[in-house]
Amino acid sequence: MTLTVNDLSYSYTKDMPVLKGVSFAAEKGELLSVLGPNGAGKSTLFRCLLGGIDGYSGSIELDGREVRSLSRRELAARIAYIPQIHRPTFGYSVMDTALMGLTRELSPFRSPSAEQEKRAMEALEQVGVAHLARRNFATLSGGEQQLVLIARALAQQSDILIMDEPTSALDYGNQLRVLQQVRALSREGYTVLLSTHNPQHALTFADRVLALHQGAVAAHGPAREVLTPALIRKLYRVETALADTRGGSVLVPLTEGEK
Ligand code: ADP
Ligand code: MG
Repeated sequence: MTLTVNDLSYSYTKDMPVLKGVSFAAEKGELLSVLGPNGAGKSTLFRCLLGGIDGYSGSIELDGREVRSLSRRELAARIAYIPQIHRPTFGYSVMDTALMGLTRELSPFRSPSAEQEKRAMEALEQVGVAHLARRNFATLSGGEQQLVLIARALAQQSDILIMDEPTSALDYGNQLRVLQQVRALSREGYTVLLSTHNPQHALTFADRVLALHQGAVAAHGPAREVLTPALIRKLYRVETALADTRGGSVLVPLTEGEK
């Protein structure tokens, strides 16, 4: 499924535009990393895509269909949101959490069918956490919880996955494991939009980058082409250098003396 955003603008309050003429497309199987400093408009962009905001101007289309014309249910069948991990309040099992991805078809009064449980289990398998199905979600590590939340979105069976800073609460190893998993899902054909505070993650894992600066597109294109020290300077006001390594390009921060 192709997501096309054209000239998207939005203001929460009058005279304070938060998104300014944002245009880009994301193709099937693409991992698009959305970068930008705090307040650049990343979460607001995602809210627009997920139907949480409708007072925007411009258009958001899925395979040529304006998302505003879709019902919540129709939209959920196409785009799934994967939240950051948060402290869960109740003792849901991992299986129950994955089953929540099926809410639009589950009746609150009926227990899930064998078929729905199978689908939730397959989603857990897809990201390598099926062995945790009977565990209490709250007792998992942050990385495992994030993978279960990804499985929950997969159980929803939508083609587009939206992740708002999925790695920000994870340790170094779990960040990389989650990103490797997300990359594998994009290779399977999911379109993934992922915001991150770490440009290196975009460089290592993303196909393309959408850089937002004060609500406008500062750059959009292949990660290795657009992620330059000049762009990093514009976005974050820091100096970096790019180094080629066996593991690909690496952004190295420059300290005062090295500039
Ligand atoms: P990012 O996710 O890139 O950090 P956001 O989309 O959260 O940026 O925020 C973009 C701008 O919109 C910021 O200036 C923020 O203060 C403002 N903003 C975000 N949410 C609201 C809201 N509910 N009401 C008013 N302003 C908001
Ligand atoms: Mg945000």
